[in-house]
Amino acid sequence: MSVEATHTLIVGGGQAGIAMSEHLGARGIPHLVLERDRIAERWRTQRWDSLVANGPAWHDRFPNLSFQGVDPFAFAPKDRIVRYFEDYAARIKAPIRCGVNVTALTRKPDGTFRAETSAGVIEAKTVVAATGPFQKPILPAVVPDSAGIFQVHSAGYRNPGQLPAGAVLVVGAGSSGVQIADELQRAGRKVFLSVGPHDRPPIRYRGRDFVWWLGVLGKWDAPTVAPGMEHVTIAVSGAHGGRTIDFRGLAARGMTLVGRTIAFDKGTLRFADDLAGNIARGDANFLSVLDEADAYVQAHDIPLPPEPEARTLGPLPECVTDPIRSLDLASEGIASIVWATGFALDFGWLQVPGAFDAQGRPAHLKGVTQVPGLYFLGLAWLSRRASPFIWGVWHDAEYLATRIAGG
Ligand SMILES: Cc1cc2nc3c(=O)[nH]c(=O)nc-3n(C[C@H](O)[C@H](O)[C@H](O)COP(=O)(O)OP(=O)(O)OC[C@H]3O[C@@H](n4cnc5c(N)ncnc54)[C@H](O)[C@@H]3O)c2cc1C
Repeated sequence: MSVEATHTLIVGGGQAGIAMSEHLGARGIPHLVLERDRIAERWRTQRWDSLVANGPAWHDRFPNLSFQGVDPFAFAPKDRIVRYFEDYAARIKAPIRCGVNVTALTRKPDGTFRAETSAGVIEAKTVVAATGPFQKPILPAVVPDSAGIFQVHSAGYRNPGQLPAGAVLVVGAGSSGVQIADELQRAGRKVFLSVGPHDRPPIRYRGRDFVWWLGVLGKWDAPTVAPGMEHVTIAVSGAHGGRTIDFRGLAARGMTLVGRTIAFDKGTLRFADDLAGNIARGDANFLSVLDEADAYVQAHDIPLPPEPEARTLGPLPECVTDPIRSLDLASEGIASIVWATGFALDFGWLQVPGAFDAQGRPAHLKGVTQVPGLYFLGLAWLSRRASPFIWGVWHDAEYLATRIAGG
């Protein structure tokens, strides 16, 4: 059997793989990108129909290409994002092979790598694992299948018409959960939203987008924290022109907020006694961003219009002050649960000793592993907060390319 060889093999043809290809190409390093499905597949088939970017088009892009035909201050729809990456890959002539699944990566005694793929064996001196920060939906084992209720993860949710008639519980109030709950409520569903701890930055403040504030306040560059402490649920939305997530407003329009979903027994769901605390924490985060923004404006004497009304949060709704601790599914008419409960990593194909720590997490410093020639890209907090996002991954890829070029 013939074995193909390349210098650097990039596994994954999402934004991370494309960014890596651009930086390697610019340095004249021969490489190949393998994508098991299509370019930017997760934006195509693992996100709901109405999804738009959470950040405006001027920000959520690579530095060398703006979104043609999209207002820089608008939020690109997911299909437009797919086209952006297709165009980008064509523009940089990225050597991407689609429909090629990497099933196993091993290290040979001479230190090079051997990838078994659905299209044969490929050997490489260097490998970049760019298979995404959000790989495997986490579906907490709370409600058994035998409960006879329709359950779907946010990665499988498409639109309100997909769910059987009746009320819906959405579990998780990060960006996905809140947007899906809002969409269902607008479609006329009775919605319960299970709210955990979260950050809630203003989508815009004093005339500037939140992504701009996170930039000038140094928050995108916030360095990687201790393993296990990285995850912060951020509730933000580019839907409907971009709106700050407002739990009081959702409740005023009829949504019932509940605490974290913790148990299910004989048709009854139980919620933690943490709703008021979670809302308070989100409010504190919101106000802290305003405080830091105001301090920045003052320190730099920038002529941005003051916006004192942003600080008026309004009274808490009754569902927060007197929260429901349990719900009987049948009597509330709840026919579906949407679990917007995040994702786990899945590196079953990466069989290289030293690539993972004792807990099975990728072991690396800014994407550089202790295994010579092996790199990770696109993971949450790879080098800083921006790492898993469109803008951030491009810069991490540049760093890895300099390491690969020098190694
Ligand atoms: C709902 C949602 C909304 C988001 N919105 C934004 C946003 O507005 N702005 C922003 O900047 N970020 C956003 N993100 C975060 C991030 O930009 C996306 O998750 C993005 O898809 C990550 O790109 P990636 O290339 O790192 O990984 P992915 O898009 O996951 O791409 C990895 C690719 O690897 C392929 N692959 C996996 N395993 C193999 C294998 N063994 N062999 C070959 N190929 C393989 C997959 O098919 C996939 O195409 C969002 C994330 C989610 C979940």
